[in-house]
Amino acid sequence: MSLQAIDNSDVRKLRQIAGEENVLVGGDIPDDYSHDEMAPVTAQPEVVFRPGCTGEVASLLQHCRGRGIAVTPRGSGTGLMGGAVPVCGGVLLDMGRMKEILEIDCENMLARVQPGVTLLELSEAVESRGLFYAPDPGEKSGSIGGNVSTNAGGMRAVKYGVTRDHVRGMQVVLADGEVLDLGGRVAKNSTGYQLMQIIIGSEGTLAVVTEITVRLLPRPPALASLLVQFSDLDQAISTVPRFAAAGITPQAIEFFRRGVITASEQYLGKAFPDRSAPAYLLLRFDGSSREELESQMDAAGRVCLENGAEDALIADTAERQEALWSARGAFLEAIKHDEMDEADVVVPRAAIAEMVHYADEVGERVDLRMETFGHAGDGNLHINMLRDGLPWEQWRSRVDAAMDLLYEKSEELGGMVSGEHGIGHAKRAYLHRHTDRREIELMRGIKELFDPSGILNPQKVL
Ligand SMILES: Cc1cc2nc3c(=O)[nH]c(=O)nc-3n(C[C@H](O)[C@H](O)[C@H](O)COP(=O)(O)OP(=O)(O)OC[C@H]3O[C@@H](n4cnc5c(N)ncnc54)[C@H](O)[C@@H]3O)c2cc1C
Repeated sequence: MSLQAIDNSDVRKLRQIAGEENVLVGGDIPDDYSHDEMAPVTAQPEVVFRPGCTGEVASLLQHCRGRGIAVTPRGSGTGLMGGAVPVCGGVLLDMGRMKEILEIDCENMLARVQPGVTLLELSEAVESRGLFYAPDPGEKSGSIGGNVSTNAGGMRAVKYGVTRDHVRGMQVVLADGEVLDLGGRVAKNSTGYQLMQIIIGSEGTLAVVTEITVRLLPRPPALASLLVQFSDLDQAISTVPRFAAAGITPQAIEFFRRGVITASEQYLGKAFPDRSAPAYLLLRFDGSSREELESQMDAAGRVCLENGAEDALIADTAERQEALWSARGAFLEAIKHDEMDEADVVVPRAAIAEMVHYADEVGERVDLRMETFGHAGDGNLHINMLRDGLPWEQWRSRVDAAMDLLYEKSEELGGMVSGEHGIGHAKRAYLHRHTDRREIELMRGIKELFDPSGILNPQKVL
């Protein structure tokens, strides 16, 4: 079915569903809705629809499916791959009004939320009850609906896994407007094909998520961090597999080099606790007691020193840890002041150093400034390509050349196109190029089954 433009009668219908004030048209649509946080993809929606409940989402989809109008779901718009950009026009479905924490079930250790609740709001609400939502993507204003739809990762994935590992149940609206409840409150489930798991990470192309049940954990009472200085990146990275071998399980293992510290100091206007070494690992541990933490930190420190670390700084007060992690959290924003693009590759942990060196080589070869840092504990690198005032066409052609080389290398090393940011609109070509033909065919079959008219987030992922 070919997609249709929106006319006045569609606008009238949408206003009947959600109310006049929740349907924006033409010049009333803020520019923010035409882009996300990074992808070089912009497109203006014809209409913005802001539902207040699942029923309104269902009525919208029934109408749009009947008329062949594209619908692009959007959470907070903090995605980095253009997933929430309405590249085919149509309706931008802003889930931001559905932001109620419906239930915190301390007995079953679950929270049930609407999709527009932000990560920060959920974390604060559960932590005030001594509980903990483990996924920890860097951008805390991202919505839980967006986190689920991109299967967001983040810092604590080393110990706790990614968003997918914490979703227990979901309510979704299918492309024809039917409402479906998937999963539930149970801790395990082998009941047929796991449709919920297919929808997680599907970036709004299979269904609209209108309610999410996530599992909670007891809030770890003790936290401490270790900033380890290395004279080179190879030493830093080659230390990472040794933690697991020694039975040490940090929450987070991040790597970075000195260059990005300078950018974050300028951005935050605050000095980083150390900038004497060329390369760093930043680790965070949690534990049920101070003693347990100390023994893990001692063991980790020993492993680092045996592997050539120059020194390890302990941060065991809330203030010191905040200084480290707020700087780490600001890296992306700090270098993003100018236009940039990124490759979010994931490679086997042992191949990270090779991938980082290769990225440096590619930067020199195509003459592009790159800043690489990322989640060392799970092999996920963010290779950021900065525009630095280059004319746009010239910058884009260098970025494209660099992306081609980097994704080829990642495949050669056994890696994947995206570790956590998804495919969206920006990385579709690479998904196709580096994924088995049969696998793509099966993905197309799934899309066809869920959304035969192709109205849900067209030209994304596939
Ligand atoms: C500074 C910074 C740091 C970041 N750090 C991390 C990180 O550490 N780890 C990480 O994984 N990501 C990170 N991100 C990326 C981003 O925050 C995540 O991808 C996040 O999950 C996006 O959530 P959102 O609500 O902004 O989604 P949006 O950008 O609005 O949408 C993302 C995708 O989800 C779909 N979608 C949104 N809501 C729904 C819904 N209710 N139903 C169906 N589909 C929906 C959209 O159609 C789109 O395809 C970072 C981004 C920034 C800017």
